[in-house]
Amino acid sequence: YKVSPFLDPGSLTTPDTLSIVHLSRDNIQPVYLQDTTGAVNGYAEGAVINTRFGSFPHSTLINKPWGSQIRASIVDTGSRGRKRKLEAIAADIAAEDTPDDGTGEDASSAGPTKDVKTAASGFIHILPPTPEVWTTSLPHRTQVVYTPDYSYILHRIRARPGMHIIEAGAGSGSFTHASARAVYNGYPTNGGEKKGKVWSFEFNEDRYKKMQEEIKSHLLEGLVQITHRDVYNDGFLVDGESPEADCVFLDLPAPWRALPHLSRRRPTPSQLASAGLEPLNGEESEWKSPLRSDRSVYICTFSPCIEQVTKTIDTMRRLGWMEIEMVEVAHRRINVMRERIGYNMPTERGANQSAGNVEEAVARLKEVERRFKEFNKGRPGATDANMDEDEEMLDEGDLVNGNASRVREAEGLEDTPSTKPWMVGRLIHRTEAEIKTHTSYLVFAILPQEWSEEQEAAAYETWPCGK
Ligand code: SAM
Repeated sequence: YKVSPFLDPGSLTTPDTLSIVHLSRDNIQPVYLQDTTGAVNGYAEGAVINTRFGSFPHSTLINKPWGSQIRASIVDTGSRGRKRKLEAIAADIAAEDTPDDGTGEDASSAGPTKDVKTAASGFIHILPPTPEVWTTSLPHRTQVVYTPDYSYILHRIRARPGMHIIEAGAGSGSFTHASARAVYNGYPTNGGEKKGKVWSFEFNEDRYKKMQEEIKSHLLEGLVQITHRDVYNDGFLVDGESPEADCVFLDLPAPWRALPHLSRRRPTPSQLASAGLEPLNGEESEWKSPLRSDRSVYICTFSPCIEQVTKTIDTMRRLGWMEIEMVEVAHRRINVMRERIGYNMPTERGANQSAGNVEEAVARLKEVERRFKEFNKGRPGATDANMDEDEEMLDEGDLVNGNASRVREAEGLEDTPSTKPWMVGRLIHRTEAEIKTHTSYLVFAILPQEWSEEQEAAAYETWPCGK
């Protein structure tokens, strides 16, 4: 029995298991590492990943600690002459290496593979699969739920180890993977506890089949059960059995059409009609709830339009859902960094020697301001008001950006090349150009536990005040 690498990847990369090749922040590829010997696709090394950062035989990626940086290799394509030529060129540039600058920036700093030189110096990172990296690397078959949304949703619907969650539709499986990790409680070696489970439903046959393959190859069978189903018409029982769900996530075009099936009692014809559904077939006694009966059930629906939200909430109210609330997650990643601080002090430290720290830079700034005030003192027209204005203008921005001549004037320095490059630490931030979150409205609600006569009687018996 092998545990899914999404749940426990171990410490080293292994063959035949899903790994993630991180080429750059925006280029992440899933790959199954093959322990191959002998020629594969014309490569004597066996299976090779070819990227614009170089070639990476799988053999160089196996048995490595997760997160390792792997250098490109010169691969043997089987042509001896070509190999010798490549080796000769590589020997010329062997001394040259491209260090990881640690910025997480595009590894193209190592250069695209135009020749052997860069082929030998490019690198990639090998990462374990997690729901987060899977979300950024999965083959998109639909819109997907992104990490900022699903982390919040799973928290709000109280998805915890051991819980059962209903999910519809499965789509590309982004939410499925995150919810599988959330409810996983050691299956199948959890000492007989009720095991966590994702009951996933998908109406589109191609997507359903693709999801089935992925669940199998990601070793998530048993933890995730996918059913090919139109949940609007056919509800959430699987082979007549109830998933006994603790929580529900609906990412469907018309969530209100699925809601009557998520009741505690068989929905009435009027409840069905208000959701645009036909009366149900079958006997009333045959009806089963897909929800857990002995506690409150938490739900989230995910809809891009406010009209969908209105209809969903209207149906929720009719069906007894409470504490209904709508949330929109506005996610924005901001990179904040402090640039290197230093300045050139030709008179004290020698020309073009950059040095200093924050305190030095601030002290220097104050000194500049003092000299500037002194310089302006008694100048015709230098009133208090425009002195203030001048003071405001002479700030870090002046030092960094362009008012160099004012600074030099204030300092009484000559405008010589050696005094020009003032460099002062500044705080900069950058927002992500493309915000990777599918903006949708999240509707949360709770369906309280319904007490049976027996439960009421039992509670009465144990009531501290007695009968
Ligand atoms: N949450 C998914 C993810 O994170 O990858 C994306 C879901 S996608 C936006 C919506 C999915 O709902 C589609 O794959 C669609 O086929 C499915 N769907 C639509 N109507 C359905 C229905 N009546 N029953 C089951 N699935 C349905």
